[in-house]
Amino acid sequence: MYDVLILGAGPAGLGAAVYAARAGISFAVIDQSPISGGQVLNTYEVDNYLGLMGETGGGLSDKFREHADKLGTEFITDEVKSVEDLGDKKAVHGYERDYEARALILATGATHSKLAIPGEDRLSGMGVSYCATCDGAFFKNRVAAVVGGGDVAVEDAIFLSKLCRKVYLIHRRDTLRAVNSLQEQLFAKENIEIIWDSEVTEICGTNTVEKIMVYNKKNQQTSELDVNGIFIAVGIVPNTELFRGLVEMDERGYIKAGEDCITSGRGIYAAGDIRLKPMRQIITAVADGANAVNAAQNHLLKI
Ligand code: NAP
Repeated sequence: MYDVLILGAGPAGLGAAVYAARAGISFAVIDQSPISGGQVLNTYEVDNYLGLMGETGGGLSDKFREHADKLGTEFITDEVKSVEDLGDKKAVHGYERDYEARALILATGATHSKLAIPGEDRLSGMGVSYCATCDGAFFKNRVAAVVGGGDVAVEDAIFLSKLCRKVYLIHRRDTLRAVNSLQEQLFAKENIEIIWDSEVTEICGTNTVEKIMVYNKKNQQTSELDVNGIFIAVGIVPNTELFRGLVEMDERGYIKAGEDCITSGRGIYAAGDIRLKPMRQIITAVADGANAVNAAQNHLLKI
């Protein structure tokens, strides 16, 4: 039986691993993927992580993993199918085997949301993508659209503008949600055209994306836009389905926990993007990892 099991190897899970190793408690990190990093792996460049400005998403993930490895972290590749709270013992059932711990740190992160429009699922992987850094190269010298107005959509549009002949950024309002520094870079790109107040209503094509239907909410007109690819960046949903009934969540599935990461489940902590909080950033996820270990340690002293 471990003192602590950390579920998820994104920035929150890896941050927790570093603090758990330094605390001298027995622990392991379980993730379904052997490659650590979570959503950061889908990021081209990270400009706001302290001390590592301009690092690529992959580079930053490698550094995080290397740090946890150097401190002797045990990494387990397994997909968790259920979790049970048995009081002072928590049981984690994986597809490979079962695990036990005195405390759990839930750090399973989030996944991209879908638009849920005709053509999206059918053409997924055939021009519809949720990861510009993964699939952008397929659209070299071609025309792509990005949907969304947050940090990810703007980062994706900037990244694609370096590869594509033309990039459309389609946003449902007339102001962006992304931070100002990203907006400045976006507005400076000559091959990016922003289509404001508009929603994509359909993705069309036979075997690959050929065009999209765009509805302008202001003039209430729908127009066709010829594109070779569409990158959907309309936010995230927390990966908390497994934890329903285990800890309290809000209506969107974010786990209710404060800065100390303490959930409604005794000995169960939530760290990173799955936690209900105002700011989901890499740096706040890493901080959650540290806070969750601190709270878990206090709990371990009492049982
Ligand atoms: P986000 O900030 O929630 O933005 C989602 C965008 O998609 C919003 O502009 C939203 O429009 C739009 N949208 C949502 N549903 C839509 C729909 N059905 N149709 C059309 N548009 C829709 O999500 P995100 O950009 O994926 O970022 C997720 C989190 O990661 C954020 O907290 C972000 O700050 C964080 N992040 C952090 C870093 C970092 O730490 N370096 C980097 C990237 C992202 P409205 O604006 O109208 O709501």
